[in-house]
Amino acid sequence: MSAEFPEHTRVRLMMGDTDAIKSYVFETSALPEIRGGSQILTSLEEQIRQIFRQKLGNDDKYLIYCGGGGFLAVVPDDQADEIKKRIERLYYERTTLATITIIYTEPVEYGALSAGLPTGNPIVDLDKLQARSLAAELMASHFDVFSNRRSERKHFGEWVSKLVALMQQTKRQKTIAPFVEALPIHRRCDACGKRPSAHYDELRGEEICFICWQKRQQGRHERHDLIQNFNDWLRKHGNSEPFLKPAADLPEMIAGEGRIGLLYADGNNMGELLQQARSPRDYRHFSQTLSSVMRDVVYGSITECVRPLHVGQSNSARFEIVAIGGDDAILILPLSCAWNVAAELVRRFEEDERIKNLKSEFNDSGRRPVCLTMSAGIAMADVKYPIGFLRNLAEGLLKEAKRWARKTQTGSLCHLWLRSPVISEDARSLVRSLYHKKIGACLCSLTARPYTWEEAKHLHSLAKQLSQLPKSQRRALAESLEKGVLVSVNYALYQSARHPRYQLSALFGQLGELVKKRLAATTQVNWFWAEEDAAGSRWQTALLDALELVEMGAC
Ligand SMILES: [Zn+2]
Repeated sequence: MSAEFPEHTRVRLMMGDTDAIKSYVFETSALPEIRGGSQILTSLEEQIRQIFRQKLGNDDKYLIYCGGGGFLAVVPDDQADEIKKRIERLYYERTTLATITIIYTEPVEYGALSAGLPTGNPIVDLDKLQARSLAAELMASHFDVFSNRRSERKHFGEWVSKLVALMQQTKRQKTIAPFVEALPIHRRCDACGKRPSAHYDELRGEEICFICWQKRQQGRHERHDLIQNFNDWLRKHGNSEPFLKPAADLPEMIAGEGRIGLLYADGNNMGELLQQARSPRDYRHFSQTLSSVMRDVVYGSITECVRPLHVGQSNSARFEIVAIGGDDAILILPLSCAWNVAAELVRRFEEDERIKNLKSEFNDSGRRPVCLTMSAGIAMADVKYPIGFLRNLAEGLLKEAKRWARKTQTGSLCHLWLRSPVISEDARSLVRSLYHKKIGACLCSLTARPYTWEEAKHLHSLAKQLSQLPKSQRRALAESLEKGVLVSVNYALYQSARHPRYQLSALFGQLGELVKKRLAATTQVNWFWAEEDAAGSRWQTALLDALELVEMGAC
């Protein structure tokens, strides 16, 4: 079955997943600490690889996947417990807060991994099996969502599904979480405000705790992996940019722009794809392809959209790659670049030849077709905003983008620019409260978000035309939208007649068409407004989104 192991070797399938990555990396808002936390986690992944090499030899056949905060491996039956304990200890000792949960299956012959979970009764023909009520539901959720024939599900991916479910269960049942005690007499850390301070940081004149200290020290290294990999990539692609170094802090990174965007990108349906791998080799092939595409796509989009790549005369990067692994990435960017990077990233992923090949490989093999696309959420705000808050908001926006991606089967993005402080972290309700207005008997939606990357590119080209308009006129146009369909259309008619050289009439028509295409075929359009329901009581427009892009400096 495989040249990697003799078929009858007794092995266990092991899965590890880091706990509390989010609260560890984004606990404080200072860039060196965020970077340091992320860097520590990346270096731990390298140490997992080393442990496997030390214990099991130099060929990486045991470790199927390692990255993005988790790993999947095949381990010899008798070594599983020791490896688990060693990795758990490693995470605890290095981070104190970001522990790792590791689980493994019962021992099984290596060859049996590719045959799926044991059925108990091998004579039963799964495809002919009939089930009723709850049993039918279970059969459907386990088999039918993945393939048209149940017997098609009996392969390695079934083991992965089992471990994924077990992982969620184990995490839910955890009763112990790492805790660092702070007594009333302790002076609190100036960075996190939670733990007792233990070090004096001369550079910033702050008393900080040992965890923040570790992260900060790590984050101040000029040659850390995430920027190093980017530099190497630039060289490999013949780019003659100077060697970039990480910015000292966020204000330096955005160099006077004052606002940032936190971009959270994540592949759609990737879990589903990986749970359909037929063998460990298949799984390795899928995950390695995704990781390498992800890197190329992120680096390529940054190189294209962040211009220049460095701040003024210095070599400090104008972007921060907080995390990149598996099929997701978190970036911090200047406001003016964030939206463009997101749209480009989503497009590049979908159009990448390797992704297209993976898709056709997959679809040719008779499995249920998957849609391999990417979604992105971008939360934008003043640089003083707590980064952890922006990260949570970006995650919520990512969910909105994924919802649209499911509907359109195309990679999508959703953004939100917070111009004034808000308390809520709920992306959906925030978008509603900021952009849905009740005007008279009409409900006007002043945004058409989320957009697929194709719609986003179209919107961007229209916004570019709008950027020709003087700022005062753009603002007046935006204000008129808040007064409803009739007022804004009248105002726009007046503007368009007054300034024929901007060709606003055609532009507004195209904005209306952009929204119409997303709604029902029978949708009525009133210039740049499209009717969401036949009763004419709900209208939607993309004009404000376009005006906002201009305002952001994205055009
Ligand atoms: Zn601290």
